[in-house]
Amino acid sequence: MLIIRARRVFDGRDLTAKRAVVVSGGKIVDLLDDAPEHGDVRDLGDVTLLPGLVDTHVHLAFDASPDPVGGLDREGLYDRMRAHARRHLAAGVTTVRDLGDRGYLALRLAGEMTDGPEILSAGAPITSVKGHCWFLGGEAEGVEGVRAAVRERAEKGAHAIKMMITGGEMTPGTHSHLNQFSQAEIDAAADEARRHGLPIAGHAHGGPGIAAAVAAGFDSVEHVTFLTADGVAPDPEIMAAMAANGVAASLTVGLTPGVVPPPRIAALLPKLNEGLRRLRASGVTIVGGSDAGIGPPKPHGILTHGGEMLTTAGMTPVEILRALTSDAATLCRVGNRKGRIAPGFDADLLAVRGDPTTDHTALRETAAVFRNGSSL
Ligand SMILES: [Zn+2]
Repeated sequence: MLIIRARRVFDGRDLTAKRAVVVSGGKIVDLLDDAPEHGDVRDLGDVTLLPGLVDTHVHLAFDASPDPVGGLDREGLYDRMRAHARRHLAAGVTTVRDLGDRGYLALRLAGEMTDGPEILSAGAPITSVKGHCWFLGGEAEGVEGVRAAVRERAEKGAHAIKMMITGGEMTPGTHSHLNQFSQAEIDAAADEARRHGLPIAGHAHGGPGIAAAVAAGFDSVEHVTFLTADGVAPDPEIMAAMAANGVAASLTVGLTPGVVPPPRIAALLPKLNEGLRRLRASGVTIVGGSDAGIGPPKPHGILTHGGEMLTTAGMTPVEILRALTSDAATLCRVGNRKGRIAPGFDADLLAVRGDPTTDHTALRETAAVFRNGSSL
């Protein structure tokens, strides 16, 4: 039994009056007002202890280089994925959800890796023929084709389903503002995911794609940028439908500091930021997925920088912490064992210097990381 003592303890929802967390067998067994005089006490000093972070959207197969797709074909992909996963854990991200790799490698890693974060994997994203990220191997066509693709992932043991509802920036020939699937195909994917008890995440930039995912009953929409052919058009009606149906917005947060966006994106920023604020004001549940791996501004472990964009959306530091811990865990269907400091939960913990309940940048001041009760 180990007792971890900290100046402050944030339990995944609120700052508590507790100062000590009791860990045994990889689980949290108790919270105490303070540590006892005797016993196996690890006093971390003037830090805040919080649940390990949960990143709802990563790509362990992408190497965050200028050519992440080319990197897929380089030798040693599986070992690189292992190294990428370790980087998340070192930053305090104790659970990652991989929303797109190739050949079920992330799922294999989830079963084999003993010194990394908890890995949840969707396998290859389901996409249209030559659609967004087709090169990951998830092409499917027609209602029956889409259902079969969901079933295959469920049978392999995937933890989630990911569908590319619109095109994306990374894939030439696709269009972020346009849907790649019919509503019938999108509905079929959501229905089949429900039948297998799996959460389903929909990649969607354009308003019609976001609306299609909401209508089908997806658990989350990824990105939620409301891109049009030549701009950004945040749609309050679609946002209201997301809030009413409990569809979470998994925002793409976390950028290497100092990165200057390309001129095309920079020109869209005021409208994109207005969209974020409206989304927050609409009462939509917001969580953060880093999309780690997709390019140099998105190295693995960058989720600790996610507070910048969430602040722009109007979230308070405590709301940001909830988004990156308990709310993210709930969306990923591991909210019964991840994302909180409470008896019975996995002892996945992050200690940071300073107080992230008043300043989100404190999340980057890593002091200690525990995974299943063991410190790194
Ligand atoms: Zn992605």
